[in-house]
Amino acid sequence: MNEFERIEHWTKSLNQKDESIKVPIGDDCALVESGGLKLLLSNDEQIEGHHFKRHFPPKGVGFKLIASNVSDIYACGGTPLWVNLAIALPPKLPEGWMLSFYEGVSSACERFKLSITGGNTAASDTLSLGAFIVGRCDRFIARRGAKPDERLMLTGPLGESRAGLEHLLAERAIQSETDNAVVKSHLYPDLPSKLVAFIAEHATSAIDISDGLAGDLGHLMAQSGVGFLIEEPEALYSPHLLEYCRQDGKRALKYALFGGEDYQIAFTLPESQVKKAQSLGASLIGRATDTQKLQIHGPKEALELPAKGFVHF
Ligand code: ADP
Ligand code: MG
Repeated sequence: MNEFERIEHWTKSLNQKDESIKVPIGDDCALVESGGLKLLLSNDEQIEGHHFKRHFPPKGVGFKLIASNVSDIYACGGTPLWVNLAIALPPKLPEGWMLSFYEGVSSACERFKLSITGGNTAASDTLSLGAFIVGRCDRFIARRGAKPDERLMLTGPLGESRAGLEHLLAERAIQSETDNAVVKSHLYPDLPSKLVAFIAEHATSAIDISDGLAGDLGHLMAQSGVGFLIEEPEALYSPHLLEYCRQDGKRALKYALFGGEDYQIAFTLPESQVKKAQSLGASLIGRATDTQKLQIHGPKEALELPAKGFVHF
């Protein structure tokens, strides 16, 4: 069973009848309503060996932990408010590591305007940093809601995070502006804060790109009952990524489609709103179709892609 089948299998027995849960398991955040407030809940973690290695800058691990949580709130059209941390650490971890980690946490809290409300600390064989985030929204943007012929938009370029991870894993020195840009994209993801209000008002569906565009579009497809045609493959990646890939467009496209941890948002819109979205910095990358397939414009014809991204099992 993969990660998603496992979650479904485990949670079958929950049998809950809680009327305050308006959007349950299955979206970027849960939506709960209480006292007239619409609250968004989500969590995410960074685990040594899986998400980072000990030689990665701890400040970046802290920043990315908060950013990955904020990204789920943004993907639902919300505003982040509070985070509780769950820290499990080997007793011999140098004190400086956690101090730098908290510098990154603090910098992300300032950038995304949220506060740390508490947490829990325990000893563990594995260094594991988790966060639980609470946000609020006026209108919940779900993974379901895309309709055929609506336009598919992206808040920013993809694939740099994957390139940055590759650079960090190879333990190479930063030798160029390009190396610097991709490593920064991996450790300090630049979330689309400026587009969230627009998405909240106009998007018909949205998802954050944490596991790679292809797999995350697969979730939108499954929940909205549509397919997608990527009509502008070059709009998926940045000149920095192309430079990193030595102008090999195919490699850059592979990183953009299957890389993950970009924390940009893919969303759908009626055609009438596209110009406004573009004026705010979003790119038009394609459209929703009634095929249930993920396709991409090739040199001659549309090619079908596997709608699969990173899965943990
Ligand atoms: P994301 O990619 O946005 O981080 P996930 O793929 O981790 O989301 O989770 C997909 C959905 O499954 C979410 O709604 C999440 O709350 C839910 N989920 C994940 N793990 C569990 C679990 N162990 N028990 C219950 N729900 C879970
Ligand atoms: Mg998500």
